Amino acid sequence: MLHSVAETLVPTDKPAEMLDAFKHHLKEDHAIDFIVLADGVHLVEQDLFRVEFQVDPAGLRICLQGPNDNALVFFKEEIVEHVSQMDADAAHGIRWSGASTEAGALPTNFAVLTVLDNKVLFEGMQRVTLRYPGIAKRQDEGLHVRLMMPLDQTRDPVWPVMGENGAPVWPQGADKLHARFVTLRNVRPEHEEVDIDIVPHDVGLISQWAQNAQAGQTVGAMGPAGMSKVPEAGSYLFVADGTGLPLVARLLETLGHEIKGDVILAAPNEAVLDDYLPQTSLRVHCIDAKSFESNIVAQVKKLTKATAPDYALFAGEFQNAQDLRKHFKGDLGLDKKTQISVAYWKRGVNGYGS
Ligand SMILES: Cc1cc2nc3c(=O)[nH]c(=O)nc-3n(C[C@H](O)[C@H](O)[C@H](O)COP(=O)(O)OP(=O)(O)OC[C@H]3O[C@@H](n4cnc5c(N)ncnc54)[C@H](O)[C@@H]3O)c2cc1C
Repeated sequence: MLHSVAETLVPTDKPAEMLDAFKHHLKEDHAIDFIVLADGVHLVEQDLFRVEFQVDPAGLRICLQGPNDNALVFFKEEIVEHVSQMDADAAHGIRWSGASTEAGALPTNFAVLTVLDNKVLFEGMQRVTLRYPGIAKRQDEGLHVRLMMPLDQTRDPVWPVMGENGAPVWPQGADKLHARFVTLRNVRPEHEEVDIDIVPHDVGLISQWAQNAQAGQTVGAMGPAGMSKVPEAGSYLFVADGTGLPLVARLLETLGHEIKGDVILAAPNEAVLDDYLPQTSLRVHCIDAKSFESNIVAQVKKLTKATAPDYALFAGEFQNAQDLRKHFKGDLGLDKKTQISVAYWKRGVNGYGS
């Protein structure tokens, strides 16, 4: 259900060119095509979100719809960011109708979380448990949060505040923040507690933070937002590396025990997955995390050679996501309602997707 709406007229004298740039971005980076309606409205619908663009003599008209106001905070920020890459003045001049936070205030979806515990969950997965004030009321808004912390860990944090154009104004210079998306693996609303499971890797600040987090430390978060369930289907294929593993576990929790299909995940062994996943009737396949990235596309092709699933999902590295989206949409004949293949990180690129 789409409950929240926000509209803007982006002040530009080149609205058609700006619309083309949005089209190009959605096509190239997300493999999403617009539907063009008779009145010239360009429409995109994905999961619980809908966006309409229309060229107007005074600029580019954009209407966003989402499940709630907090989800629109991220959506507006994305729009402002894309506009600013084309025309910084136009991005600055954006004003939204509908519910919006007062300029200068903390974003409505912002909270300061406190570390309660930190442990190695299994080889290649670190679990940080946090107190998350307000999560009890907001847990249905999505599965993901954007964690943030000062890039210079010796400094006290300066948190983002809302700008007049509906996008958060992020501190710059010495106060710059490092912000990355993660998934809430467990939410215990009665205690306002969450578990976040993070893949430790070589150089990332979030990865280092997860390995060293100590009880009492604080971290900023915006969210929750993003997908929280998948459509009903006759058979499923869920595929994820360690970064998408918490997502798959959460989605399986929503699906019940009588579903058909396969799940292919990165983990040290099957016993680990048995413990990690909720009870499931899906066939569970385990691939060692170290060889996952190079083997997964071939494994999926092999598994789906005889029968295609009715719904397929991948979450993990960018190139894997590109290759598997091509396989899902091409070889398996799935479409935007029956497949999703998302890049959670990109090898060699800091903060892809954040
Ligand atoms: C919606 C969403 C939900 C996510 N949920 C989770 C989650 O629950 N758990 C989780 O662990 N991750 C999750 N991720 C992925 C996480 O945001 C990225 O891995 C992020 O780059 C980690 O930030 P960082 O500060 O450690 O590294 P960055 O500063 O972003 O990157 C530094 C370097 O590390 C590389 N890198 C980043 N991630 C990995 C990795 N996993 N393995 C190897 N190299 C890597 C980058 O290519 C880059 O070269 C999610 C991403 C999205 C978009």
